[in-house]
Amino acid sequence: MRAIFKGINDEKISEQDEESYVEWLKGKNAEKKARSVKETYKKDTSDRVAVTEKFLEKQGINIDVITDNLKAYGTTNWKTKSLKDGFEKVKMSNIVLKDTDNRSDKYKIKTGLHEAFHAMRDGMTIKRANISRAEYQEIEECLTECSAHYLAGLLGIKNLQPNYANKLSNLVPRLVQLEEFKGCESITEIGERAFKIRASGKIIDYDDLHSQLYAVQYDWQDYIKSNYLKEIESNDMYYVGKFIENAPDYEGQDGELLEELGLATYHLRIGLPLNSVEKRMLCNALAMAMNKKGGIK
Ligand SMILES: [Zn+2]
Repeated sequence: MRAIFKGINDEKISEQDEESYVEWLKGKNAEKKARSVKETYKKDTSDRVAVTEKFLEKQGINIDVITDNLKAYGTTNWKTKSLKDGFEKVKMSNIVLKDTDNRSDKYKIKTGLHEAFHAMRDGMTIKRANISRAEYQEIEECLTECSAHYLAGLLGIKNLQPNYANKLSNLVPRLVQLEEFKGCESITEIGERAFKIRASGKIIDYDDLHSQLYAVQYDWQDYIKSNYLKEIESNDMYYVGKFIENAPDYEGQDGELLEELGLATYHLRIGLPLNSVEKRMLCNALAMAMNKKGGIK
């Protein structure tokens, strides 16, 4: 393991890593845990609170999951205690899910698991002393959203439009250049790897992760041009449909969105700058393509 997720006591942590991973994903208990979350989901596919609670229970995390009036689809409240050398100890308070979320149940369940992945840091040590709040959030949301797609996939929920498309567009192709994520070809595969690392309880060094990610030479628009432009152009209606699935307020505006996406791909192809709406459409299409089609490199 490289320095990013290295623990203070390496030997102890790598044993723990092995154990919790095997336990969660390969061992008998893992199947039991995954099954019990799935059973909860199958009992009532609309009960995002129950699924999130079950997942947390199986992770041994004891916090409340509530619904409330929120602008975002979900949020995780937490505190930290400063330790020496810029390290912090995390204590999770609760998870809040938007009470009026108007997306379909599978998206709502995915959001519950997204928040639960944030909450897996309960009791963990993190470091983010040398980066801004926005830089820290970019990394955390990216890892979390990828894992949410992996965890939702375990329940049979697949091919959802990812949230935080701009962050994913900027970081996912950088992530797969790092040792820990080498060989991952889709959002889900990255999510599985991130989950495994987080389940190990190792220190999350966002500072180190940030410097490694930004040492990678990368431009998201060039990346689309060389890898996903054809895919997006040939399936533009699919990508617009996925965008609307995750943002039902746009229902009925398929035509306008299709036009925006068309302009975006055209402007990209001929090398003209993109406006903010075009960028948003393209980021979302890229994030979805990296999820559905994979092939990330
Ligand atoms: Zn989040």
